[in-house]
Amino acid sequence: MTFAKEIHTFHSGKAQPTTSDPSKTFSSIDPATNKTLATIYTTTPSQLNAAVDSATKAFKQWSQTPAPQRSAILLKAASILRRRNDELALTETLDTGKALGETKTVDVITGVDVLEYYAHFVAGSQPGDHTTLRPDAYVLTHHEPLGVCAGIGAWNYPIQIALWKSAPCLAAGNTMVYKPSEVTPLHANTLAEIYIEAGVPPGVFNVVYGDGPAVGAPLVAHEGIAKVSFTGQVSTGSKVASEAAKGMKGVTMELGGKSPLVVLPDADVDEAADVAMVANFFSTGQVCTNGTRVFVPDRLLKDVEAAIVQRCREGVRMGMPQVESTNFGPMVSAAQRDKVNMYIAHGKTQDRARVVYDGASDAQKKKPTEEGYWVPPVVFSDCTDDMRIVREEIFGPVMCILPYATKGDYLPTLIARANDTPMGLAAGVVSPDLGTAQDVVRQLDAGITWINTWGESPAEMPVGGWKMSGVGLENGPEGIRAYMRTKSTLVQLGRGACKGVFAKL
Ligand code: NAD
Repeated sequence: MTFAKEIHTFHSGKAQPTTSDPSKTFSSIDPATNKTLATIYTTTPSQLNAAVDSATKAFKQWSQTPAPQRSAILLKAASILRRRNDELALTETLDTGKALGETKTVDVITGVDVLEYYAHFVAGSQPGDHTTLRPDAYVLTHHEPLGVCAGIGAWNYPIQIALWKSAPCLAAGNTMVYKPSEVTPLHANTLAEIYIEAGVPPGVFNVVYGDGPAVGAPLVAHEGIAKVSFTGQVSTGSKVASEAAKGMKGVTMELGGKSPLVVLPDADVDEAADVAMVANFFSTGQVCTNGTRVFVPDRLLKDVEAAIVQRCREGVRMGMPQVESTNFGPMVSAAQRDKVNMYIAHGKTQDRARVVYDGASDAQKKKPTEEGYWVPPVVFSDCTDDMRIVREEIFGPVMCILPYATKGDYLPTLIARANDTPMGLAAGVVSPDLGTAQDVVRQLDAGITWINTWGESPAEMPVGGWKMSGVGLENGPEGIRAYMRTKSTLVQLGRGACKGVFAKL
């Protein structure tokens, strides 16, 4: 197995065992069995300082390492990660409960894609640009690394998030102190060791462990931190951004969503149902970009509902996550299970949405274990814009279908309804008419959009939320600029440029 049974803070190139108060430990739990996978020692305040110090010292050397050399080291790390994909994927499966078929093909690989993308990006790019102002003067613009950056991750894509943050950060010449979610911490020291094995100098990538109040907040507030890249809930992101603002630190905020999937009246019913399934039940519904508000024209409603119910009955294989045939695992934690069940109960009793499919009463969806945090899929229909299940991020396998009328000029109302949320992470449209689909997508308030598909985001695609869903972007050329600052210099060739200028004013 790739993770240790006892996990300690990682800085200065190695794990730093602590003999501190054993009550300051927490457990990583297998959500399919409720068994402890590993004990993690919460980073102490002095270890946090040591991690930032080691990143500060390492910054001098790493930021001056020529970009092609940094690139070669990061490419080596990428090749180790690819070689170890299957064992790293298994660790993710045990830690998160996500099906192995997913973690083997998505989690590590989409993280490594980004590492390779930025390694190539910096190898081929110039450290600055220049423009000619007049024949004897020019402007030089340098893009330089920021210093020590803090990365703070959510629990749903642990190693992918760690790579999406550390890859551009390190490629640009920065160093990082990374805090994984306390719910899914198993991947982080393994990633740190792989960086070291590849030749990343000690101190360039460090890991601290603990919850938000104990470790996340002091990390953000630490005066040695130049920038904070955060992935998590809107409410937490708002606190983190406020704290960072006190030190004028730049932030990247990748936050929650309540995204619309718009099925247009000319859509193929099977196509619409297939997209809706991926947009709602991938990772057991624990994906930030999920299209949980599915707008369906009333004349297709019965058929789309029937196609989705059939797919829930026959296509959702709830089971032990490490079994290859499983495509639907447990919720990540007991807290998340309880939260999702609360929303399901609310949808039935308070919102009074119509239940089209309830996996809890489907004999095929037996809980694989008594102790695991299982929540089978639920599909509500006849949902309205004011329902709580439609307005709040549930982050579980709960689909809300919202019918719409297609009389007259229905599109402006439909688009206004799709945009009627404080969040703006993702959106999508299903239609064979690409012109109309594109036109609708252009009017949706979201940073990540899809037409006739859902969920893919390759390394070159900048991703980030609009409105309350975030600030800044990850991936693509924009993702690395977020880890750089610009220095502009106007250079006058020869003397005398200022001679007499002031006197003439
Ligand atoms: P969370 O906000 O509860 O925690 C995220 C991280 O913040 C954890 O590491 C936590 O320890 C830390 N934290 C908590 N309080 C903090 C504080 N005061 N200061 C500093 N750090 C603090 O989020 P979660 O429940 O782990 O993740 C689920 C959320 O993440 C969902 O809302 C989901 O939509 C979002 N998410 C967004 C994206 C994206 O790219 N937009 C990707 C994945 C997940």
